[in-house]
Amino acid sequence: MLHVISRRHFLTYAPAVFSIAAWLKAAAASPAAGIIMTVNGPIRPSELGVTLPHEHVLVDFIGADKVSPNRYDEHEAYRIILPHLLSLREKGCRSLIECTPNFLGRNPRLLQRLSLAAGLHLITNTGLYGAAAHKYLPAYVQQETPEQLAGRWVAEWKNGIGDTGIKPGFIKSGMDKGPLSPLQRKLVTAAALTWRQTGLPIGIHTGDGAAAQEEAAILKEMKVPLSAWIWIHAQNEKDLAIHDQLAGAGAWVSLDGLSKENAQDYITRLTRLKQHGFLQQTLISHDAGWYNVGQPGGGQFRNYNYLLTAFVPLLKQHGFTEADIRMLTVENPARAFTIQPQPAGV
Ligand SMILES: [Zn+2]
Repeated sequence: MLHVISRRHFLTYAPAVFSIAAWLKAAAASPAAGIIMTVNGPIRPSELGVTLPHEHVLVDFIGADKVSPNRYDEHEAYRIILPHLLSLREKGCRSLIECTPNFLGRNPRLLQRLSLAAGLHLITNTGLYGAAAHKYLPAYVQQETPEQLAGRWVAEWKNGIGDTGIKPGFIKSGMDKGPLSPLQRKLVTAAALTWRQTGLPIGIHTGDGAAAQEEAAILKEMKVPLSAWIWIHAQNEKDLAIHDQLAGAGAWVSLDGLSKENAQDYITRLTRLKQHGFLQQTLISHDAGWYNVGQPGGGQFRNYNYLLTAFVPLLKQHGFTEADIRMLTVENPARAFTIQPQPAGV
């Protein structure tokens, strides 16, 4: 019997109700086992529900050398963000993957408070973001080996982030357009090493298809199955042959910049992915939010409601079935973010 979080525990959002060691032991006996790690502890994939797989609640673009939680009033941020999460929950959403990495304003404790208050599962990440020409990378990345970087990320998985006890649910990194810089390649290698030790899914913000192909090649070389890799911002690549190539190799294709303005383009892309048999590897989200640190009142917050209120009806009009929609909004995020305790091929 697999000892996962009980319904009763989950409903009370009790943090740390679950021992990783016990889970690993139990999971070893049950190869189909897997969990999803929220900021309030692990849940079963079946508990994730309707999910937005790529959003942000708070971002600070100041850069790795200056970023600090002291740059904003956390109470104000909480007060501004919470109504957007409550509104999203009201629309039927149950989980939101918060993709803000370390050194860009990741704040697990704020996420935990918001999760409890909104009744939404929130999932945070470990890893480092190498896009934007390394602006969000701390100086230590230059000297450290991939093994040392992976050691930091594995430690967050084992012990929690900082002193919060809150664990990451995936690895987040970021790359500009290809070719990747040596530092960016190092980050992909470190992500692969972290996956080997943790089974955490790898989501990489990716500038274009050439960068995606290079990421995939590194991961394959490191024996990471591409089903553990999410090609974030796949919509940046207009050559759809690359989508087919990487989806065909097992990757997750994340179309995550959805808005009212580009909805028709997303319908076209999703229809095509469905025709090519890749709908079960496709994720959709807005990349919306967020409390923008440094702007008065957090700036212009873009809400998370378009997908559930307007885009799902549009999908139906264009021939997507209830089963397709359930796949895109529930089943795919649950599979993409399931942590496999014993990664294959290791
Ligand atoms: Zn994003």
